[in-house]
Amino acid sequence: MSAASIDTRCVHTGREDFARLGVHAPPIDFSSTYPMHDLDEGTSDYDALAGGAAYPMHTAVYARLHNPTVARFEAAFAELDGAEAAVAFGSGMAAITAMLLALTSHGRHVVAVRPLYGGTDHLLTSGLLSLDVTWASATEVHSAIRPDTALVLIESPANPTCALVDIADIVRQAGSVPVVVDSTFATPILQRPLSLGAAAALHSATKFIGGHGDVIAGVIATSESIAAQLRQVRILTGALLHPLAAYLLHRGLPTLALRVRAAEERAGELARRLQRHPAVAAVHYPGLPGGDPMGLIGRQMDGPGSILAFDMAGGHDAAALVMQRLRLITSAVSLGSTDTLIQHPAGLTHRLVPEHEREAMGITGGLLRLSVGIEGVEDLWNDLAQALDAVSALQSDGAASVVAAAEPALAGMA
Ligand SMILES: *Cc1c(COP(=O)(O)O)cnc(C)c1O
Repeated sequence: MSAASIDTRCVHTGREDFARLGVHAPPIDFSSTYPMHDLDEGTSDYDALAGGAAYPMHTAVYARLHNPTVARFEAAFAELDGAEAAVAFGSGMAAITAMLLALTSHGRHVVAVRPLYGGTDHLLTSGLLSLDVTWASATEVHSAIRPDTALVLIESPANPTCALVDIADIVRQAGSVPVVVDSTFATPILQRPLSLGAAAALHSATKFIGGHGDVIAGVIATSESIAAQLRQVRILTGALLHPLAAYLLHRGLPTLALRVRAAEERAGELARRLQRHPAVAAVHYPGLPGGDPMGLIGRQMDGPGSILAFDMAGGHDAAALVMQRLRLITSAVSLGSTDTLIQHPAGLTHRLVPEHEREAMGITGGLLRLSVGIEGVEDLWNDLAQALDAVSALQSDGAASVVAAAEPALAGMA
């Protein structure tokens, strides 16, 4: 099926055996344990699964070792991301943790490029995994590599500034060291890091893959050998994806291409209009002129995606007021849902990143991140415009009233 278009593959991936099974939707297997007919068969399946095998020969033994519904989603997702295998987890953070644990069993040194998702940044700096982390800019990766470097971790587009990193260039700089790309913002529709030489593409499936704001999940598309290590970590740490969540993720795949493109179209229009609003100091979106200085769209990505960030000229208080005034757009963290969400990275998702690091990455007090959904674009703009106009009106009355008007919003966020 890999010769078919991505649209066709989204609809049919992981469903090839339906006619044979006589079904039109994937069966869900909720078993916690599995009967075995023969102890020797059970023993050999146990050995194989504990060693990282993707499928048992006879019995799954126990659901922490294997679940057919999760395995079906994984096979479907691997096909879309152009990977030999995929391994799914109970959250994006569980996936990142498993990746770090799997690859750092021999060397503890990790090279990471900021910005990263706030939780990932905090996991690396917290000391929890006893990692030795070197933060490098995208051009310094080669000089940061040491003999004990286990992996290079990058994110593109990066959360929350939408900055793009040249994946193929990082792969060249890393040499034989595996490069792991958090590709959450792009999805397999817009970017396939493995085709650029990355060892793994990691996704918070909570976002676009699930796509409807009702699943927390993570998935890593990679080689069979890394997948086997990830399955071993998953068995040992129990970072499982529930079969119902796997079903919902698989259910999201047929509309993934449509959702991603529809949201992208709206994001492009909103980015252009935001740029012209006097309350907005700057818009960060790779689809705007100057927003993709390395020319990666077309080469690395098939489109700029549907996440954008913008800086309010009035700083933190103006940003808080916009969040408070929006009616159709929901003030909430997370992204990649059918509905449009807005959040304040410095106050929420990237709160645990040290302030001076935040500022250096452009995560200012006035920065808002907008995850554009698939509502009507004029409805989205009308909502944004009335909130931004309210800020402009207050600003012309003097800064003091902006602060006063923003206070209820801050209280509401606590
Ligand atoms: C949300 C997010 C994560 C974490 O995923 P969870 O599913 O919330 O654990 C990791 N990376 C990026 C880029 C994200 O946006």
